[in-house]
Amino acid sequence: MKTDLHSHSDFSPDGTEPLSAMVKRAEALRLSYYGISEHFDYDYVADGIPFENGEPPRLTDAETYFKTARALQKSAKMRFLVGGEFGFTQNPKATEPYLRLIETYRPDFVINSVHTQGTFDYYDREAHASVPKHALYEEYLRLVLLSLNAPYPYDIVGHLGYCTRYVSYADPALRYADFREILDRIFDEIVARDKILEVNTSSPSFLPGRELLETYFRRGGRKISFASDAHASARIAHGWEEVVPILREIGFQGVTVPDRGEHVFLPFDE
Ligand SMILES: [Zn+2]
Ligand SMILES: [Zn+2]
Repeated sequence: MKTDLHSHSDFSPDGTEPLSAMVKRAEALRLSYYGISEHFDYDYVADGIPFENGEPPRLTDAETYFKTARALQKSAKMRFLVGGEFGFTQNPKATEPYLRLIETYRPDFVINSVHTQGTFDYYDREAHASVPKHALYEEYLRLVLLSLNAPYPYDIVGHLGYCTRYVSYADPALRYADFREILDRIFDEIVARDKILEVNTSSPSFLPGRELLETYFRRGGRKISFASDAHASARIAHGWEEVVPILREIGFQGVTVPDRGEHVFLPFDE
């Protein structure tokens, strides 16, 4: 009963394969749920953040994406969910485009992710190379906390700890002891709002790390989703076998899938 609720086809600026190839692979893997979550980077637009090489951001073509995905949805041999990954910004200029996207295309689910902090994407190592670790992580977590209160509906909190992927500190770990207060607030808020915390396996290991997942569980968090964050079909469901035993050890008994607003619990034992 594998699931994967976070992936990108070449509709996203950084995807590499057509959506049809992604769906085909998910079917071959016999996933019970497969979700595509193309990037909607209205944070870049609102804040005027250029892409790599200083070029203006290339955005997912929503019209063509939803049309193509809805057609594939009809013939898919599994539950195929058509979603989006929204890049959060505190800039209110992004609110309207996100709300309009939801109203126009009614995505089956939305992942809310912090990628940027107003002037750069954490992906851009050079942009924050001189920022000390504690300051960089604290600012990132502050934005994650703000993102939970986003002015548009969303289901999943994307890759908590994203900034740790793109740093060169001798010890990049995001430790609970160093950010206790804000992490508690983030986890309590996720639980109170009945959101789903994503377990994202696209990093060398997985995000958030074990210690943070244990804290989330201890504070009452039970809803998690599995996310390969695949940008190529070969990566779909990547890391499931490795991470599920760890999730079980922590106490999680399954994943939760947001299926058009309804939370479907899928136990690991089935
Ligand atoms: Zn992301
Ligand atoms: Zn993604």
